[in-house]
Amino acid sequence: MISQETKQRILDATQIEEVIGDFVSLRKRGGNHIGCCPFHNEKTPSFYVSPSKGIFKCFGCGESGDAVSFLMKHEHYTYPEALRWLAQKYNITIEEEQLSEEQQQRRSERDALFHVSEFAEQFFVDSMMNTELGQAVGLGYYHKRGLSDEIIKRFGLGYSPDEWRAFTDHALKNGYSKEVLEKTGLTIVKEDGKMYDRFRGRVTFPIYSISGRVLGFSCRILSSEKQAAKYVNSPDSDIYNKSNILYGLFQAKNAISRLNKCYLVEGNLDVVSMHQSGVENTVASCGTSLTIEQIRLIKRYTPNVTIVYDSDAAGIKATQRAANLLFQEGMRVRCVLFPDGDDPDSYAQHNGSAALQQYLDEHEENYILYKARITSEQIKRDPIRKSEFIQDIADSIALVQNLIERSEYIQQCSSLFNVSEQSLSSLVAKTINRNRQHPTAGPQNETPADQPVVEQPKVHIAQSDITTAQGTCEAFERHLVDLLMRFGGEVVNWTYRPPDQEEDITKPLSVASIIISTLHSSGLSFENPLYQEVYTLALDALKQGKIISPSQFAASENPDIRELAISSMMQPYEVSDLWQSTKGIYVPDEIHRLPSDLSDTLHHFRLKKVELELAENSQRLKEESDPGQILLLVKRHTELINLKKVIAQKLRMVISGI
Ligand SMILES: [Zn+2]
Repeated sequence: MISQETKQRILDATQIEEVIGDFVSLRKRGGNHIGCCPFHNEKTPSFYVSPSKGIFKCFGCGESGDAVSFLMKHEHYTYPEALRWLAQKYNITIEEEQLSEEQQQRRSERDALFHVSEFAEQFFVDSMMNTELGQAVGLGYYHKRGLSDEIIKRFGLGYSPDEWRAFTDHALKNGYSKEVLEKTGLTIVKEDGKMYDRFRGRVTFPIYSISGRVLGFSCRILSSEKQAAKYVNSPDSDIYNKSNILYGLFQAKNAISRLNKCYLVEGNLDVVSMHQSGVENTVASCGTSLTIEQIRLIKRYTPNVTIVYDSDAAGIKATQRAANLLFQEGMRVRCVLFPDGDDPDSYAQHNGSAALQQYLDEHEENYILYKARITSEQIKRDPIRKSEFIQDIADSIALVQNLIERSEYIQQCSSLFNVSEQSLSSLVAKTINRNRQHPTAGPQNETPADQPVVEQPKVHIAQSDITTAQGTCEAFERHLVDLLMRFGGEVVNWTYRPPDQEEDITKPLSVASIIISTLHSSGLSFENPLYQEVYTLALDALKQGKIISPSQFAASENPDIRELAISSMMQPYEVSDLWQSTKGIYVPDEIHRLPSDLSDTLHHFRLKKVELELAENSQRLKEESDPGQILLLVKRHTELINLKKVIAQKLRMVISGI
């Protein structure tokens, strides 16, 4: 609830080199400061801080941002936490926005929930450490599982006595209200008003927020009662939402970002046991199957996830589901399977910590290649279902976001399954289209059994067309977005032919309006959804007569746009001596070239789009048998050829073959 005005004062006072200088040793070089990057290991500095632009960028690992995002990444602060840190550094009093009565009440309610949760954690720890029964039953259980006192303490593990109201009575006596106890779920209140402890007779695992506050509990049963649930978790409350919490993240976050990798395991005990074995970059999704929100939490620290689930049928299915979700979020996915019946916890108990680490290192596999291996074994056993198995692997490859990785997988899998690269890649392309058309269906939905599976799918565009065409389009799109974000407000003399006019005219126009009107009038859009979003933002602003400045893009609420803007503002050549002597954002040379660069890029982009459609059109022409359709296709073909000629002329290019 920091007021907008205070926020602006904080940002105005912030000197990025001073902020980063608190964590990284920086040297001045020209207009910049440089040092060794805190986000990856390096000996020669490639980490640049630009005081004039208020941003940093590492040319080694690509990390970039402003002072606030530096604090968020380096110290793992939330946005408000980073602002508060800066306010303290620059002695700015934070003016809290006046809270409404309702907001105030809500806040004090949340505070009460936090307090009672922390009170409960302490009660469970005391019950275990300071009572005879607690030591025998609770502590005894953890010791039997091979956990040391140190790790028990680190995770705040405890024991809830096997009595109906031990905790509830203790909390009431200490002044906590019945309502608060009920809201956290620590106490269950029956309809007749009778109260009892939710977690009685269980060992307790507190669940922490990223900053280490107790949000809730996950508690394991000790008796062998068959009908009781093995784990009971806190119900969702104002402070606890199971779908965006990861068990162990508080203890694991530093190791995850340092090692740039996160192990994802199934249970709480697996997490604790991995940490005890020295594998501290481990978390578990708590009492729920993995969610998108949880993946985004991991993504704050690393794009690399290794799934370590059970290797029984249920575990393999869960692994597949998790992998698909992770791919969707653009993560890199690996997996480790344990010998049947073992999990990290039991493996460490039987074989020791060192063996566990070694096992993880030796058995980690790229997920797609793991799946390909399994699939090829299945095909050997059951050749009749080959096409079905291949569809399954195509489903997974289709979710990989990185184009280069995707085509790499297609190549490797096609040789493994002895199918042509073309058929596999067109199967993948089809799946991508299907996912696009039915985004809600998601990848976890399995292919319906009645859907015919195509052994040799028809090819619409040759593989070479797909890769080269997509690759080139991406490059043009990226460059256009760069120009739009960095130079949108720049005015250049632009020569163009207005619709229904005979003559070209020259007029001073802003780069933003040139790009937007050109794309609009030729009905073009960006393939890349992020670029399209930038374009839409610029378009909406332009409709109101405004142009979004580079720093506004860099302060966008969407982190992907922020990152894009910052990286385009910090092109590598900008840190050359040339750039340092200028005050502005760009080198004079570049401004000089802007009009011709803009016009070339727009023409090339249009040309590429036309070529793409032409390729697809020709292919359809070959396959079409309906005379009416053929006529339409031929007509479009002629139009496209003419369009191609016109654009090519503008580019003063000679196109052979037409
Ligand atoms: Zn770096």
